[in-house]
Amino acid sequence: MRTYVSSRGGQSIEGAAGAIIRGIASDKGLFVPDEIPVLDIKLDELAGMKYQEIARKVIGAFFDDYTENEIAYCVNGAYDDKFPKEVVPVVKAGDAYFLELYRGRTSAFKDMALSILPYLLTTAVKKTGEDKKICILTATSGDTGKAALEGFANVPGTEIIVFFPEDGVSAVQKAQMVTQEGDNTHVFAIRGNFDDAQTGVKKIFSDDAMAERLADKGCKLSSANSINIGRLIPQVAYYVYGYGKLIEDGAIKPGDKINIVVPTGNFGNILAAYYASLMGIPVNKFICASNENKVLTDFINTGIYDTRRDFHITNSPSMDILISSNLERLLYHLSGGDSSEIAELMSKLDSEKCYEVSDKIKEGLQCFYGGFADVSDTNKTIGEIYAANKYLMDTHTAVAYKVYEDYREATGDDTPTIIASTASPFKFSDSVAKSVGLSECENEFDYLEELSEATGTAIPDGLANLDKKEVRHKGVIDIDEMPSIVEELLQK
Ligand SMILES: *Cc1c(COP(=O)(O)O)cnc(C)c1O
Repeated sequence: MRTYVSSRGGQSIEGAAGAIIRGIASDKGLFVPDEIPVLDIKLDELAGMKYQEIARKVIGAFFDDYTENEIAYCVNGAYDDKFPKEVVPVVKAGDAYFLELYRGRTSAFKDMALSILPYLLTTAVKKTGEDKKICILTATSGDTGKAALEGFANVPGTEIIVFFPEDGVSAVQKAQMVTQEGDNTHVFAIRGNFDDAQTGVKKIFSDDAMAERLADKGCKLSSANSINIGRLIPQVAYYVYGYGKLIEDGAIKPGDKINIVVPTGNFGNILAAYYASLMGIPVNKFICASNENKVLTDFINTGIYDTRRDFHITNSPSMDILISSNLERLLYHLSGGDSSEIAELMSKLDSEKCYEVSDKIKEGLQCFYGGFADVSDTNKTIGEIYAANKYLMDTHTAVAYKVYEDYREATGDDTPTIIASTASPFKFSDSVAKSVGLSECENEFDYLEELSEATGTAIPDGLANLDKKEVRHKGVIDIDEMPSIVEELLQK
């Protein structure tokens, strides 16, 4: 059975189930597998395999304390008719293959993992004999919150609380969350940005006294953010699937390398691509795309992670992040599993807001390319790609495409490339509509109609008529109220 260890060295748990329930390690580190399993499918067998089949192999290899039947139950429950038949359409447009990860219920890639996390978690509870109610705390930059709410709504034995930045999400994202139904769902806007929300949630997780009081009430906290290994691993599957699709399409032969471009915020999605390569998918470059909050671009180029900078609110809000949690996992792997080095770096980040990594880690970063796109380049890219190919991208995916174009220009590298397409263009329809030359609307929700008519594409079910649904969650709180709100809710 695989062991899950804290990236900071303070805790290790036999089997994934315990790590998934716990969410974050007791020393505030993130759980990482002690060893990355090798993919148990030959590359030339990938072409033509069904998504669910690949997901079962990949997830089962990491979570080997789950039985084959348990993994199959989780995968089949998650990737059913909530998704299109192929689950993740792979579409060639312009110079790249777009991995359309946003075809689930909430129109962002977060559905890929948050559709399965409730299954993995409730199965973990059964397996470990955990007798407490699981209370999911989630900080969101917009998309995780809704996907987590949708995944956990009315799941017996769970309660879910979501915190989102009051002024940091799009109108559609906000409407999706505050209209959420389900007796076990709770949503609060916080006066602060995503980093404040994420730091607040991590603080609650490390409050042992509070954990004890909640335990007395029969509650145990867990996380639906990508700090939870149960969220990260399901994401590895779609990169493996994407590789198979490129073989099927004749773009590569089994064994050929590909590039993977990921619009990045918390570094979870691109880390999943890195895990896919450690499992055996041949990758040339991981292209890490940021918006104006380009702390990761600078880090990849210098080895210095420095959050002492202005925070920008952009039109790719799910990437408005300065503290990328999952980078900690990458550093752990690149350091060769040196948890004391990681603990030291993270404590520096806490105290000095900045750290520089060792030469060994810098060496390991060579397979990453970092770039960024500002709002005007992002919008321009959406317009250009639509005009040339009739392919519509959302703002996050457009950041990725622009950075990929810059990369190609800088390097001349024409390795076949996958771009992680992370959201439906309808989710950010005001920016997208204006970028393809449509007129200004008075109401933000009118852009969905406008975009639908102009492009001949239907509005995704979950996004239609959002402004007409009843608002069920009206709370707006200060960051320092987060702990008391959680305790109050869970007392009941
Ligand atoms: C969450 C999100 C991202 C960033 O993903 P990370 O795993 O946090 O790096 C990018 N695009 C969209 C649309 C998202 O919702």
